[in-house]
Amino acid sequence: MKCLIFSDAVDTANQLVSFFSGIMEVDCIVPEAVAKAVSAHCSGNIFAMKESVFPDSITAVIAKTYRNSKYDYVFLGSTAIGRDVAGMLSVDLGLNVAAEITSFKLDGSSCVTKRYFYGGKTVIEESSNARILTVMPGIAEPKSAPAAGKISEVSQEASQVTMVSRESKAAGSVDLEKASIIVSVGRGIGNKENIEKIKPLADAVHGEIAGSRPVCLDYHWLSEDRQVGLSGKKVKPKMYIALGISGQIQHIAGIRGSKIVVAVNKDKSAPIFEEADYGLVGDLFQIVPKLVAAIKG
Ligand SMILES: Cc1cc2nc3c(=O)[nH]c(=O)nc-3n(C[C@H](O)[C@H](O)[C@H](O)COP(=O)(O)OP(=O)(O)OC[C@H]3O[C@@H](n4cnc5c(N)ncnc54)[C@H](O)[C@@H]3O)c2cc1C
Repeated sequence: MKCLIFSDAVDTANQLVSFFSGIMEVDCIVPEAVAKAVSAHCSGNIFAMKESVFPDSITAVIAKTYRNSKYDYVFLGSTAIGRDVAGMLSVDLGLNVAAEITSFKLDGSSCVTKRYFYGGKTVIEESSNARILTVMPGIAEPKSAPAAGKISEVSQEASQVTMVSRESKAAGSVDLEKASIIVSVGRGIGNKENIEKIKPLADAVHGEIAGSRPVCLDYHWLSEDRQVGLSGKKVKPKMYIALGISGQIQHIAGIRGSKIVVAVNKDKSAPIFEEADYGLVGDLFQIVPKLVAAIKG
């Protein structure tokens, strides 16, 4: 049995090849910029795409490669591009899709997958004949392959889409998915000015500042690219410090990949404490300066 893996995100690509190499033969089709990193984890063929911006051209080259080599499965990293490609590929190849899976195992000619349901409140297990699957980040830790994969370039047809203009991200924008420590604030912070009061903690732990949806999207106390949760970033830091965040399921859906969760909330029955490894009940404005003092020794 063999599969073809696509992801435009290096971390997810490495995780997917490491996970699926334990189950079947793996080839990859990835942007040129990702190919070299993936070759350390995948000993199969690595097809490098030069033009990897638009989903229609990516879909066409994946479909062609799939038909040429008769793969059993196509796994796509669940990125914005991966999700677009999944739908287009399903139509092109006439194969069913299972989306946003968090686990995978073979069961005869079917596959058994798990995914979050009801906004992350529950997990469902499904058995299906899906052959195209989008895979959530975090399915496995990347493992080195016994031998480096062979990289070859694939030719791609031009996209039907024309780039009209390109804007750089605003200065100060942040890559929360890569942050190893995150200090995140919720509505309990009270107002935009109070964000300054948690900056000493973020500095002390060398952390990135993030927020819940009300803080980022509703009140704009932080920029929208700092929102964590179901409709924001899915983060996986070594430590996630939640200050004045109640811990509603839509927020928790974004922090499940965190290794350690520390929560500060004045309400001892706040749901965030069910997710926390360490919980401090009290006023964040009193607790944060004490944490900073303790860290600085
Ligand atoms: C489709 C959908 C998608 C969503 N996506 C997201 C998402 O991606 N991310 C997200 O965060 N939310 C999301 N939400 C919203 C989510 O349901 C919650 O409304 C939101 O997470 C609540 O944010 P909060 O915890 O900051 O605020 P609240 O729920 O208002 O909690 C504030 C907390 O602060 C505590 N507090 C107050 N003052 C202090 C103090 N001085 N010291 C210590 N603690 C204090 C309170 O006890 C309370 O627990 C989504 C909702 C829907 C319907």
